[in-house]
Amino acid sequence: MVKMWRPELETLPREEFEKRQLRLFRRRMKYVIENSPFYRRKYKEAGVSPGDIRTMEDVRKVPFTTKAELLRSQEEHPIYGDFPCLPADAACRVFQTSGTTGVPLRVPFSKKDWFKNCYEQFSYYVYAYGIESRDVVFFPFVYGLFVAWWGLQATMEQHGVTIVPGGGQTSEVRLRSIIDWGATVVCGTPTYIIYLGELAKKMGIDLPGSKVRIVVTAGEPGAQVPATKSLIEKLWGAKNYDDVGSTEITNFGFECTLQKGTHLNEAMFLPESLDPETDQPVGPGEVGKLVMSNLCCETAPLLRYQTGDLVKFVYDKCDCGRTFLRMDGGVIGRADDMFTFGGVNIFPSAIENFIRKVPEFSIEYQLVIPRQGSGKRLTIKVEPASPSISGEQLKAAVKKFVDDVVYNIKFTPQVEIVAIGSLPRFEGKARRIFRES
Ligand SMILES: [Zn+2]
Repeated sequence: MVKMWRPELETLPREEFEKRQLRLFRRRMKYVIENSPFYRRKYKEAGVSPGDIRTMEDVRKVPFTTKAELLRSQEEHPIYGDFPCLPADAACRVFQTSGTTGVPLRVPFSKKDWFKNCYEQFSYYVYAYGIESRDVVFFPFVYGLFVAWWGLQATMEQHGVTIVPGGGQTSEVRLRSIIDWGATVVCGTPTYIIYLGELAKKMGIDLPGSKVRIVVTAGEPGAQVPATKSLIEKLWGAKNYDDVGSTEITNFGFECTLQKGTHLNEAMFLPESLDPETDQPVGPGEVGKLVMSNLCCETAPLLRYQTGDLVKFVYDKCDCGRTFLRMDGGVIGRADDMFTFGGVNIFPSAIENFIRKVPEFSIEYQLVIPRQGSGKRLTIKVEPASPSISGEQLKAAVKKFVDDVVYNIKFTPQVEIVAIGSLPRFEGKARRIFRES
């Protein structure tokens, strides 16, 4: 049976969403102009005011907010910058971005944002995943400044779900804890969840025979990469659901039990999918850059924020009954990760899908993108899945993989087999793409 947190909002007709989102967007715009020097300046320069925003086309007159601007603001006005709408001492919880692309961004949450808005946001997830108060959730997570599972955990606590905090443990101890505590739900990045699954096999722990019934993954596109999802579901004998968001805009995407794409919380966000070149909206099913506006946040709402994610919106009603739009394939990739090679736009997640379909390869890989015009081919480094795989078997596997990539992605990669265990393993977000300069 499908359960919803706010059925009246999750099944609104599309025209109603737009009306509601426009009304909340105008209200947020008025609020940021009144309370944030950053936005006051920005919107004055652009000559836009809340009264101008009557239609979705009008929203596009409002300038984007970018991460670079937020970082600059924090550098000039430590510690939070001049974009938040509340004074620094209003924060009851702080996080910072992982800083994988540079300097970390500090993100404060007021009491209302942490206890009310964050709870509201993640309650949609808890209901959509079918998590109940009788569930036992294990978080194999390093508790620190990285936001990752903090919000989902806090929300589940408030719903009476049992939380087992799995910080400060080795992976081996975590696996034993999952069994000993009778965990029914486990959360992690797809990479780490697969690593735990493989490790369990080596340790003789029968995860598919355990009580775990749901695996929630976030931080990477894995849950929406078909071969990765099916690998996770096989290793764990559980359903794998996607969770999408970022520290600064907070979490907005969740998968329902029907697993038909990642729903986007249109009750609390105004999403746009735009052509990266022209900034005009793309049609349903087309790849666009995701631009998001917070409709509820009070500490540091972001309006028309360039998330850097690439998505494909689908507006048809889901079989679960929700009318919240869906991101087909979840977050397909990061705008900065997508690369053009030989005139073809390539998403690393598409290559990952074919690697994970090959049982002779381990789950790790690396993409080495040569400099444009160097004449070199794109190299994919893979490891054999086990020492027992013969050279002949590997050769056949590589041939089949290359054929798949040539046929589906339209380029011919160079495949390099490296020693088992020589590619790095990751507990958090993985780094697998390298560009030669
Ligand atoms: Zn659904």
